[in-house]
Order: sequence, then C-alpha cells, then structure tokens
Amino acid sequence: MTLATLAEVLQPALRDGYAVPGLVCLGWEDARAYVRAAEAERAPVILQAGPGARAHMPVAIWGAMFRALAEGASVPVVAHLDHGLTVEDCREAIAAGFSSVMVDGSALPLEENIRLTAEVAVLAHAAGVSCEGEIGVVGYAGGKASTGTDPGEAGRFARETGVDALAVSVGNVHLQQDAGQGLDLALLRRIEVVTDVPLVIHGGSGVPLAQRAALAAGSRIAKFNIGTELRMAFGAALRCPASAGRLPGHLPQIAA
Ligand SMILES: [Zn+2]
Repeated sequence: MTLATLAEVLQPALRDGYAVPGLVCLGWEDARAYVRAAEAERAPVILQAGPGARAHMPVAIWGAMFRALAEGASVPVVAHLDHGLTVEDCREAIAAGFSSVMVDGSALPLEENIRLTAEVAVLAHAAGVSCEGEIGVVGYAGGKASTGTDPGEAGRFARETGVDALAVSVGNVHLQQDAGQGLDLALLRRIEVVTDVPLVIHGGSGVPLAQRAALAAGSRIAKFNIGTELRMAFGAALRCPASAGRLPGHLPQIAA
C-alpha cells in the first residue's frame, strides 16, 4: 500500500528540486498506465479525477480504483480530486478514500474563495487528507479567459486557508494542444516571495518542456497537471496503432 497525500509527495519535491505530475485520468486503462510509468521511473505520481472523469463515473468508483492501484504500486500514489467545486464534492471524495482534494473557488470573489477553501482544508486535514486551492483564474484554450494571480492575494489566501498546495495563474492555460509562450516568470517570482506553499500549474501540457524542467528544479512549482498531451497520444494510438507511443510534435518521441 503506497497511498500518499499530496503534502507527502510535494514537500520532498520542493526540498529536493523536482516536480510531481498530476495526471488527468479518464479510466482504468490510463490510470494503470500512469502508475506503471511512475514505477518504471521510480517516481511518485498523482492520479487525478477531474470534472470530465466524474461526469461519466461516480466518485466512489474513482476512489476505489485509485486505491486499488496504490495498493499494488511500489511508488507513492496520490488519489486526488481535481476541480471540486463545493464542500460536498470534497466531502464525497474524502468518503470515497481520496487522499487529496482540490477545491476550486477561483471563480468566486476573494473572500468567498478563502472561506470555501478554508472550510475544505479543515475538513480534509481532519481526515488526514491534503487540500489544494486556486487563486487567479486559469482559462481554457478557445474558452474562458485567464486572470493572472495577484501576488498579494496569493499570500493572504495561502495564510488564511491553510492549503497544502496553491494553483496559480501565471500564463498557463488548460487544454493547450501545442507548447505555448511559456509562463510569466516575473509574476511567478513575485508569488514565490509571498508564500512557502508548493505551487501548482494547471494546463502543464502548454508549458514548453525545457521550461517545465527548469522550473521543476528552480522554482516553488512542485506539481504540473498534465492531461491534453497524454490524451493526444492516446487518441493518435487509437486511430493508428503504428503511432502508438508517439507524442505530440513538441515532445520527445518515445519508442513504440
Ligand atoms: Zn485545472
């Protein structure tokens, strides 16, 4: 049994200069593949059930599935709820055995986001579960626009909510199919000086690989969420078995 909390994998990452992937799962097949890949790399992994996953399978089944994978794994595995929107979403995930919950109050006014996130953090910590919050809005490619994280608000949010990890908006965008322009490093550095909490980048697929590696080693970013580039590889392999194992063009190719 190697089920771990988010804090248990992010604090060593922060200390030793690496980042842990938060991998977006849509079923048993990909979740199992991510655990096998983590074991091959001898690295921790965060399995995430987001809104898309929960739209087609009850959270209780996700919890049981992630725990079964963690039980058989030789590396730390975090069972993480991605983008919970309410206290009830998070309560349900904790009851289902998740070891970490994200509550996303980023669309709310600051005071309400703090109130919601602090409530979930208390609930989570009482159950021995970690909590991730978000400050600033991470938009979607071709959809909702981003609002960059205000460093002053980030400092206050981290202090007043007691979160274990803080998702920020510093030029990252969800669902990007190509490497984007890269993150706003000046803004990231301003956020780093106001909090000791590990930072999380949603929309990690759009961050150029070289910058991802550099920031994993040289910033307070300890978690990159990755979904789109894995989904693209999965889709390509389904459409053309010969391309199995091939990744989107901006990524290094692996042997099929
Ligand atoms: Zn996200």
